[in-house]
Amino acid sequence: MHDAKRPLFPQAKKRLGQHFLADESIAQAIVAASGVGPDQRVVEIGPGPGALTIWLLRACGRVWAIEFDASLVPLLENRVKGLGALHVERADALRVDYRALAEHLGGKLTIVANLPYNVGTAILMHLVEQREAIAGMTVMLQTEVAERLAATPGSKAYGALSVVCGMWMDVEPVLEVPPTSFRPPPKVNSTVIRLTPRPAPLAETRDLERFSQVVHAAFGQRRKVLANALKSIHAESRAWLIRAGIDPERRGETLSIAEFAHLTNVLVDDHGPTC
Ligand code: SAM
Repeated sequence: MHDAKRPLFPQAKKRLGQHFLADESIAQAIVAASGVGPDQRVVEIGPGPGALTIWLLRACGRVWAIEFDASLVPLLENRVKGLGALHVERADALRVDYRALAEHLGGKLTIVANLPYNVGTAILMHLVEQREAIAGMTVMLQTEVAERLAATPGSKAYGALSVVCGMWMDVEPVLEVPPTSFRPPPKVNSTVIRLTPRPAPLAETRDLERFSQVVHAAFGQRRKVLANALKSIHAESRAWLIRAGIDPERRGETLSIAEFAHLTNVLVDDHGPTC
């Protein structure tokens, strides 16, 4: 069995966002924060050479890993030999059907990952879309994205990502990780966050597609007041906002998730659902 303490760093591929975690204590802290145990269906996205996989296997004995880079798999399998049952699927995490995977594994998935920066947000949103298959997620992302995910109304980081994710997920920052903890070091800081699906969405919307359109339009032109930013959604945007009880002179960044949902519902009442 390979000595897990000895770091193994293959040549990193920039286009796959490969920054390998080199700090054992941080790998251990991420796995501890994820709360994984033997009863969970643990899925690791992008295991790379296995910095987190080792600790995940020690904590729960069985891991389903999704790795795009097939060249890393022999190294990974060699590194974790004897630690537990590892299944590695060579796949693009953006295309995985997590609902089907949850069915295959017999229950909701606990996701743990040091996500590749280049597609981290897209992978996360793909998971949020399939939230009924997810028990919880503990993921490392660049700090700027983690801040946007956890942001509240009125803050600089608050935007479409905060609203669309916050609607369904409770987001909690766990740990800051400096560039020196990776090989090669990235140019930015990283943050580990925990996302737990809410038992019910933060607010009710009658049309999710419209909700997403309204939110993206409101933040698409951040400096514009809502009456102007939402003209692409409704020519009579001012009247619509007034009907919803929202001051047309406000900016999107001041609206709570519940206000976005209410605004959408008033639009649906006026115009019917999206076709
Ligand atoms: N977990 C390892 C660690 O902490 O050292 C590696 C993390 S590295 C930031 C991201 C990993 O995700 C790499 O192993 C990379 O090959 C993999 N990856 C990149 N894009 C991917 C994709 N679309 N689907 C699955 N894995 C991907």
